[in-house]
Amino acid sequence: MWNITEAYIDGAFIPVQGTEVIHVINPTTETILGTATLANRADAISAIQAARRAQHTFARTTKAERIEMLRQLQAAVLGSAQQIRDSATEEYGGVFARTQWISQYVSQSFANAAQTLEDYPLTRVIGAAQVRMEPVGVAALIAPWNSVAGTVCSKLASAIAAGCTSVIKPSELSPLQTRVLSEALHSAGLPAGIFNILIGRGHDVGDELSRHPDVAKISFTGSTATGKVIAQAGVESMKRVSLALTGKSASIVLDDTDLTTALPLIMNAAFMNNGQACVAGTRLLVPRNRLEEVISAVQAYTATLRVGDPHDPDTAIGPLVNLAQYERVQRYIHRGIEQGARLVAGGLGRPAGQERGYFVQPTIFAEVSVDMDIARDEIFGPVLSIMAFDTDEQAIGIANDTVYGLQAYVFSQNRSRAQAVASRLEAGTVMINRIAPELLAPFGGLKQSGIGREFGVFGLESFLEPKSIVSA
Ligand code: NAD
Repeated sequence: MWNITEAYIDGAFIPVQGTEVIHVINPTTETILGTATLANRADAISAIQAARRAQHTFARTTKAERIEMLRQLQAAVLGSAQQIRDSATEEYGGVFARTQWISQYVSQSFANAAQTLEDYPLTRVIGAAQVRMEPVGVAALIAPWNSVAGTVCSKLASAIAAGCTSVIKPSELSPLQTRVLSEALHSAGLPAGIFNILIGRGHDVGDELSRHPDVAKISFTGSTATGKVIAQAGVESMKRVSLALTGKSASIVLDDTDLTTALPLIMNAAFMNNGQACVAGTRLLVPRNRLEEVISAVQAYTATLRVGDPHDPDTAIGPLVNLAQYERVQRYIHRGIEQGARLVAGGLGRPAGQERGYFVQPTIFAEVSVDMDIARDEIFGPVLSIMAFDTDEQAIGIANDTVYGLQAYVFSQNRSRAQAVASRLEAGTVMINRIAPELLAPFGGLKQSGIGREFGVFGLESFLEPKSIVSA
């Protein structure tokens, strides 16, 4: 049994001042994995002070010194990849293929940031000015529960590359993953205070990070609703804010698509991370003349998906993170039926044979119209809505008919046609005939899916501010 009672502040694990104790429940078995005592506002202030003390010296480190630190972190998290993977499977039910990939991706984040910094000109001349890119200052890195190690490491890598110290607040739903990751990062042996990590709730720890005058920058990943609260809280001290938020991504199947190659990608996009991914392609837009063919294909494919124990490498879909998420997804399936969508796979309740665990049936609706809740809201579970179109123009209109704009997918055998559609989609990223991300390209959302970009040069620049020194 885990008993987590410490935060990582100023280079050491210290008991939190907070007193709220929560149970960590394994979503696969509904058994208790352990307890965690949450940090409170006073802990957040201690962490901010530690980051602030370290900031002055850290801002003056050279490129080479920071690259060396990033390499140390890369090696440290690679050395703990198995623990990082297993903690994610235990705590939120991430399936093996996903958690295995993330456990490698986290070390790659540090390698990518090191390479980006190596190639990046921190000083340039513009007219009579010498323009220096300087660290913005102490950064608060706030992460969701559905991608703890990935989000924390990609943000931390960019912050360190830029010379910013950090206070990291993963979700209160992720104490176990946070503990494992904190130990891995600590083992890199960086000077105290460069990063500090605490688990607490949004309304106190998160709020303190969003308001404290010594925090210069917030890099947040989570829901649009929380992003709005953070942006409003941060404006008082004019914090720089990057927000990576909610999505409702469309997968567009153009009428020349080869379904045999596209189908596994479409289904993976829809149900990735047990349907709990910001970039999940949960609206499948299909040409009307191929609608029945696509419905039959997705039904047949879904029937082959194994839902169950996330430790099993053959499992495609594990449980949802907790009971609240299970009930939320059930409500959406119910709404889909109630509002007249045609249920073509799955439905209400657990999959047959699953008596325990927060498992839902992979569920597919056809005849979904743009005004239905299942077409508009991010459900965050394995629920796919199929919508028909008659022309590419109409497909673009449906895809863009959402307040979100994080990612979109286009499938076609004709590259230039797919490119033409991609150029008109309101999304920060458009994937053509693939779903694997390009980890050095900018990632972020349009519209209510966010502000700012992460990864590569754009991620680095989100922690830098230009200073012009103009000489006579
Ligand atoms: P959430 O918004 O509920 O919580 C995210 C984080 O914000 C948590 O650490 C939480 O404790 C904290 N928080 C909550 N209230 C706060 C406040 N008032 N001030 C400061 N911090 C506060 O999101 P979640 O349920 O953890 O994650 C799921 C959401 O995240 C989904 O909407 C998903 O699409 C989104 N997400 C987006 C991306 C992306 O890159 N765009 C990636 C992963 C997840």
